[in-house]
Amino acid sequence: MVVVNGARQLRVAVLAMQGDYEWHIARINELGAVGYAARLPGDIESADALILPGGESTTIGKLIARYRVDDAIIRAHEARKPIYGTCAGMILLAREIAAGTEERGGQRKLGLLDISVIRNAFGRQVDSFETDLDIPAIAGKDGPPVRAVFIRAPIVASVGPDVEVLARHGDRIVFVRQGTLLGSSFHPELTTDDRVHRYFLSMIAQR
Ligand code: GLN
Repeated sequence: MVVVNGARQLRVAVLAMQGDYEWHIARINELGAVGYAARLPGDIESADALILPGGESTTIGKLIARYRVDDAIIRAHEARKPIYGTCAGMILLAREIAAGTEERGGQRKLGLLDISVIRNAFGRQVDSFETDLDIPAIAGKDGPPVRAVFIRAPIVASVGPDVEVLARHGDRIVFVRQGTLLGSSFHPELTTDDRVHRYFLSMIAQR
């Protein structure tokens, strides 16, 4: 599939401070858009859309503040560029991190997505697991479920009025959208199922 915006390929900046950004870049490139590692404000400014990958949200939060990439991400959002946060990336986008799960003393977050998250919500014994999720927005009514990998994942404890819940795992909210913002507890980039990335690219094309 070749994703073009007029005559030009879509450019997706993948925040590359820490975490599993290489997999997102690979998925985006496989789908015919240009995925690249973003480390400086200028890398964000030249993008059509942005992915904040999984990793350690406290570390990524410190690094985006140190390199002033936090302000660039907020400006990209204000310019209505789609942003997708996976796992730690969703934590960074969140308005609130539930008490007791935020790093002691607070941690840098962007506060753009109107959700409250609970970090590391699946407990130690099941730190990581893979499962199938029903996601009608992605699979349609009868399509196969979406394969999802959870790694020390957060859950969404509550959502604001403008947030659409796209998927639950049991009764826990794990995938949300608010206009141009997308957030998942899980890692779609670690499976061969590319439909979540296709969905994100369609959000860019819709703009
Ligand atoms: N546990 C990590 C955090 O709270 C997130 C894990 C992940 O991104 N896979 O930042």
